Amino acid sequence: LPNSLEARDIAYHLHSYTDARKHEETGPLVIERGEGVHVYDNNGKRYIEGMAGLWSVALGFGEKRLAEAAARQMEKLPYYHTFAHKSHGPSVELAEKLVAMAPVPMSKAYFTNSGSEANDTAIKMIWYRANAMGEPQRKKIISRVKGYHGVTLASASLTGLPNNHRSFDLPLAGILHTTCPHYRTMKKEGESEAEFAKRCARDLEALIVEEGPETIAAFFAEPVMGAGGVIVPPEGYWEAIQPVLKKYGILFVADEVICGFGRTGELFGSTTYHLEPDIMTLSKQLSSSYLPISALLVNEKVYAPLADESHTIGTWGHGFTGSGHPVAAAVALENLKIMEERDVLGHVREIAPRFLARLQALGGHALAIEARGIGLIGAVEFTHPSLADTPGALGGRIYQAMQDRGLILRNLGDTLAFCPPLVISEKEIDEMFDIAEAALCDVAKGVE
Ligand code: PLP
Repeated sequence: LPNSLEARDIAYHLHSYTDARKHEETGPLVIERGEGVHVYDNNGKRYIEGMAGLWSVALGFGEKRLAEAAARQMEKLPYYHTFAHKSHGPSVELAEKLVAMAPVPMSKAYFTNSGSEANDTAIKMIWYRANAMGEPQRKKIISRVKGYHGVTLASASLTGLPNNHRSFDLPLAGILHTTCPHYRTMKKEGESEAEFAKRCARDLEALIVEEGPETIAAFFAEPVMGAGGVIVPPEGYWEAIQPVLKKYGILFVADEVICGFGRTGELFGSTTYHLEPDIMTLSKQLSSSYLPISALLVNEKVYAPLADESHTIGTWGHGFTGSGHPVAAAVALENLKIMEERDVLGHVREIAPRFLARLQALGGHALAIEARGIGLIGAVEFTHPSLADTPGALGGRIYQAMQDRGLILRNLGDTLAFCPPLVISEKEIDEMFDIAEAALCDVAKGVE
């Protein structure tokens, strides 16, 4: 219909992560409202949001208390900034809260609006610090192949996926990538998981030595890789990686944008894997994405040189109009409060075994090659000889079949990711996997 939302979307709206050429044909799926773990399209069809939007709507849709917290703050002080010594209650309270929640001692919180901005800001802070400390040569950054850290110029450079580099002339100079810790695809013949983990650490050390340890400032990593395919680190991985960073005095930035606030069954992925980051970047579940907000937590080692009276490099010349936005901060505070009141973390621990059991069962399907997951995040990877030459084709078909049957997931190539709202019930977990299994049968008939 010429005046439909779909037609107007095609006419006027340029989408993220969407092939503009295909969008003209397929048009959008228009989502109208949400309730709990479900969303409804503009034809009234109901879907389970098995990805919590973009790994982010922890409390599910339609949480009235978050809307009310936003409305209260809107009326009291809808906007103020945090430049040049200005502040307001919500930003102070949220900074204090996040520092208190951190799994390792942290000194300060700094606010940004997206995961990409948080990681970009972390790089700028690391560079500023290097200059303040009189170590201007120490600017190189290492992240990992298949890591995902966002899309702004520096964050896209950190991201280790070809699609984020190709066509954009990225990565920026000095941003390097080390081995992806995916055991199944990266292992050498006869190599055990523990041996593979140690080799990942040796690869990291070799890169550091080759580049010159005095030139390496920081290492960025997600505790569990998300958008790169939900890659759960192999046994012994972090135990091997962290000593290498310590040995060369390299700062560790844990990108907790997906893992943070309960996803792995602990408050942070860093807690799950006993990480000792110097900087943590946070977003998504921080506000259940009801409003955009992100944050960096930095420890004393990072903060102290910035505040050192002896440096002469000038004011920290960085900040966003929306840094610490009072309405977003008020929503984040209410979101964290609700998580505590309802013991969402306890709920995740209670139902994660069911989620992981159903994930493994799906991984036993004839089209599946691997299921992997932890807490309430997981993925199943699929393959079929007839589609081996067109990577992503099978994943695309499965994704579509699931959506047709009322389940929205995300296909990362031939891997289907599961990351439901943390408040999902056991019954809804079963409903989600029942749909996934039925959709897989639909697809299997077509490729046999
Ligand atoms: N870091 C991680 C681990 C992410 O998963 C994402 C987004 O999915 C980002 C950073 C970027 O966040 P944003 O899309 O808010 O810029």
